[in-house]
Amino acid sequence: MLAADNVHTLTTSRPPADQFRLAALHRYDILDSPACEDFSFLTELAARICNVPYAFVSLVDADRVWIKSCTGMHMGELPRGESYCSLAVLGEAATEIPDLTADYRTARMALTVNAPHMRMYSSVALTSSDGFAIGTLCVMDTKPGGLDDEQRSILSRLGRQVMALIELRASERTLGDAVRELELLATTDELTGLHNRRSLLQRLRFEAARAKRFRSPLSAVMIDLDHFKRINDEHGHSAGDQVLAGVGRLLRESVRVIDIAGRYGGEELCVILPNTPLEGALKFAETLRAKIEAQLHYAGARPLPVTASFGVAAFDHMEIADAESLLRQADAALYRAKHAGRNRVEGAVLEPH
Ligand code: GH3
Ligand code: MG
Ligand code: MG
Repeated sequence: MLAADNVHTLTTSRPPADQFRLAALHRYDILDSPACEDFSFLTELAARICNVPYAFVSLVDADRVWIKSCTGMHMGELPRGESYCSLAVLGEAATEIPDLTADYRTARMALTVNAPHMRMYSSVALTSSDGFAIGTLCVMDTKPGGLDDEQRSILSRLGRQVMALIELRASERTLGDAVRELELLATTDELTGLHNRRSLLQRLRFEAARAKRFRSPLSAVMIDLDHFKRINDEHGHSAGDQVLAGVGRLLRESVRVIDIAGRYGGEELCVILPNTPLEGALKFAETLRAKIEAQLHYAGARPLPVTASFGVAAFDHMEIADAESLLRQADAALYRAKHAGRNRVEGAVLEPH
């Protein structure tokens, strides 16, 4: 335990323009990340080469020093004013304090005064690609002393390895984010925010295979906006686009997370309902039909009535679970809905041939 009357918290010395240094640190997005063996390996190596019990990768945040990896003792973080490392980001490439009790800046810090009674500290700064010291690779001992030239040189090279690892992790994360963003772009229809046709069909084939494998029901709902050509003709293409975008939003808000809502093409939309038999899909379609009819659209100040027709198909017999026949059947039901007067739902269960 810290003896409160023994502990002296330094008013932390801060490098000039510390906010830029902090911005550099935060760009790496490493603070509070989980422990990682690659970093532990480097601190272990540092401790062994320097022949000391303790080594740390420390990152100097605004008010704390956060420990990415430690050897010899577990430490999560320290107040910035209680960490030797806060002195090691003030501009020097390397910092060595052979006797921590003899240096006024460190003599009364908790780690010096209390167990484990640190006496020696040696570190190299971890320098960001834009030149800021974001933290240290440091070694410590409970005996006073110092490193020899070879140990110092290796510690410095290990520090560069730590920094290379931090850079690598940040690049991996950036690359991962970019890949996810690209994936989203490649699978999303820009106007409606729904799955695009390619993604919809891919997911349908996957769900059809899964329905077959697990003998679970699967439904498809085809939706076609009624007399959409008129909206374009009477109010312009961009009014039509706005209606499509609004209906797309409604669809996205109306489906469960496991459902797949997509734009099949033009003003034709489609929802795949995994684990849903015909009865459930018909109910879903009827609810959606009513929601589309009730949704408000405007061309300028004039309200635009919009309705849609629905064709629903379901696999309840597992032997015939193939994606194309499901869509064909939903399309045939949609055709019937159009001919029966539009703004309605028609459905069919696929029977085995
Ligand atoms: P029905 O009730 O029989 O479906 O009549 P409809 O007018 O909706 O059907 P039709 O197939 O004759 O016309 C579809 C229209 O949808 C024609 C096309 O210009 C329009 N359309 C397709 N994609 C878009 C789009 O992205 N934006 C806009 N504004 N219109 C589109
Ligand atoms: Mg239409
Ligand atoms: Mg159409």
